[in-house]
Amino acid sequence: MSLLDQPATDIPRRKKLVSKSPYLAALQRRHFLLFDIVPNLMALLVVPYHIFVAPVRVSDVVVFFLLWAVTGLGVTVGYHRLFTHRAFAAPASVRALLAFCGALAGQGPVISWAAIHRRHHELSDEPGDPHSPNLHGQTGIGRLKGLLHAHYTWMIEHDYPNVAHYTPDLLKDRAIAGPSRHYYAIALGGLFVPGLLCGLLAWQWQAAVSGILWGGFLRMAVLGHTIWAINSLLHRFGECPFATGDHSHNAGFVSLLTFGEAWHNNHHAFPTSAKFGLRRGWSDPGWWTVCLLTRLGLASDVRQPPDSVIDRRLCEGRGP
Ligand SMILES: [Zn+2]
Ligand SMILES: [Zn+2]
Repeated sequence: MSLLDQPATDIPRRKKLVSKSPYLAALQRRHFLLFDIVPNLMALLVVPYHIFVAPVRVSDVVVFFLLWAVTGLGVTVGYHRLFTHRAFAAPASVRALLAFCGALAGQGPVISWAAIHRRHHELSDEPGDPHSPNLHGQTGIGRLKGLLHAHYTWMIEHDYPNVAHYTPDLLKDRAIAGPSRHYYAIALGGLFVPGLLCGLLAWQWQAAVSGILWGGFLRMAVLGHTIWAINSLLHRFGECPFATGDHSHNAGFVSLLTFGEAWHNNHHAFPTSAKFGLRRGWSDPGWWTVCLLTRLGLASDVRQPPDSVIDRRLCEGRGP
């Protein structure tokens, strides 16, 4: 019997993998404005503020590095290795905490982030990849447009992956329901609350303003560009020790600044590995955090490829 002969109710409905609508586009544009444009513009005020209003304080630097580390690890250990790739398991309290820390980064709610990233791995550098820099042609202008798209402009408005298809496991995880539902409050709170605390501790409005600039806007802008550079620059430039069938690259010299995410070719070769810096000496702060959680009994079932498999894949050849 052909499909045409079947009663309408018997015809299997093909699942939509992505959707697009004016409502979704409005949400995406609002998110882009709040967490991708405003922090960049506000970060530009840091230098004039300190020249014309008040000097840099120790509390500014402390709150910047503290929140940069907390949010960076929230994204790489929580959003990326745990929730997207299931590279280890963790109890509900740790899952909730990592989802909260990731939400502070302003990179989107955990379920959306994971769905978009799983689609990126599924279609890496092929049509449908949400943020490939390699799909705009090989002319100079096309290559520049690709980099700009992958780094920044894809977020203005994009296909939204069907979360029922891409992240059914996360939709069932009650531990992350709170951080996911209250994402906007968490991300906006992360911009202002630490700075306000600095102001209260010093009892000076200047301390509050500079704390908000450093711990909120500058921190969010710096981490944002770091993550976006993985999508853009590391799908174009760097080392390719593994043949992955896409254009993912490593840039080990910035592995510390990216919490280990700069081992992006390694990651595309072994996406479910909790360890991105696969060799001794390949620094990977995200992996160190997973090891610490394991020692504390807060992580288990940690996945990483055996050395023999890594060696074999290295011998099989390099990427483009
Ligand atoms: Zn990638
Ligand atoms: Zn990934």
